[in-house]
Amino acid sequence: MPWKPPVVEKCPGCNKAVYAAEERLAAGKKWHKQCLKCGMCNKYLDSTTTSEHEGKVYCRQCHGRKFGPKGYGFGGGAGALSMDTGKQFGNEASEMSNVPSDAAPQ
Ligand SMILES: [Zn+2]
Ligand SMILES: [Zn+2]
Repeated sequence: MPWKPPVVEKCPGCNKAVYAAEERLAAGKKWHKQCLKCGMCNKYLDSTTTSEHEGKVYCRQCHGRKFGPKGYGFGGGAGALSMDTGKQFGNEASEMSNVPSDAAPQ
């Protein structure tokens, strides 16, 4: 009798499972709150201050500085936006770590 564990989303920041108690929604993904940091200045973000670019998150200031007020104003190569949203492969061993991740800042 097949038993399927509940699907747990993986944090794009560290690739580990994100549980409801610690999730932050940004860029359409679920993040650990400690992983949801600006890719440039490392400031902690929440869903209201997050800007996304190609799967990375930035605070609004850095996003504006890096990508300009228009946001997506450079490159423009065809096909650059094709993102594969395939959910992993479905059969990878679940990496559960028993090490408490106490990487609390401060
Ligand atoms: Zn994470
Ligand atoms: Zn920033």
